[in-house]
Amino acid sequence: EGKYDERVSVSSKDELGQLGESFNQMAEQLEQVESMRRQLIGDVSHELRTPLTAIKGSMEGLIDGVLPADTETYEQIRAEAERLSRLVDDLQELSRVEAHAYPLDFREVDVSSLVATAIKRLTPTARAKRITLTSSLPRDLPRLLADEDRLGQVLTNLTANGIQYTPEGGTVTISAERKNGEIQISVADTGVGIPPEHLAHIFTRFYRVDKSRSRASGGGSGIGLTIARHLVEAHGGRIWAESEGDGKGSRFVFTLPVR
Ligand code: ADP
Repeated sequence: EGKYDERVSVSSKDELGQLGESFNQMAEQLEQVESMRRQLIGDVSHELRTPLTAIKGSMEGLIDGVLPADTETYEQIRAEAERLSRLVDDLQELSRVEAHAYPLDFREVDVSSLVATAIKRLTPTARAKRITLTSSLPRDLPRLLADEDRLGQVLTNLTANGIQYTPEGGTVTISAERKNGEIQISVADTGVGIPPEHLAHIFTRFYRVDKSRSRASGGGSGIGLTIARHLVEAHGGRIWAESEGDGKGSRFVFTLPVR
């Protein structure tokens, strides 16, 4: 009987030790989640403040009579409001993909029609900026099992970036090939390029290589690539960027497994 008691007490001591350890781990994880949450709220507040400050400033200028009450001023205010609304849309989308709170509708997808759709969607934008938008695809690409809308979103986003970060007269090319049992889809541009030290960070939310540059050219939120990465990874693929550096163009590649 005594032996039995001892064994129980030893085992419960072990369990207690384990419980203590799990508890510590959990507390550490909670701490991490809490610190990420704080960081996110800080980032979001910072992002929201920029357009809000601009709107407030213009309105004050109008009230004080420092700014002329003309179309240009109103257009400026509207553009900032639009930026704010885009930012909120992007944030909502980001929170959805980060929480994996979106259904993926896997079906057979034809890569060439995916590319054709992206090109059709963005041809007006490219034309307005005198940028040549082309594609280069082999004939015999296998079909993918994927969510066509979501992949279309990724491709459109990368292509729109290519157009945005390429000066007039440049070229944006969408290609696809089969490689190592995967399909690789890439978007290459002849634009401003990305310095090597930034390449690893541009998929992090709110990260911009050059804030003033991105603001001046109509301003992204630094969220698009983060969403793209989530969507590609949800398909079992990878995404990365290549560039020889400043002024040397960029190439964004994502892979998708062939099933
Ligand atoms: P944004 O909305 O600011 O474009 P993204 O997440 O799409 O946000 O991109 C993050 C950053 O990566 C951009 O701000 C820009 O600095 C850089 N970037 C993205 N695409 C390109 C490209 N094709 N050429 C050069 N830089 C790019």
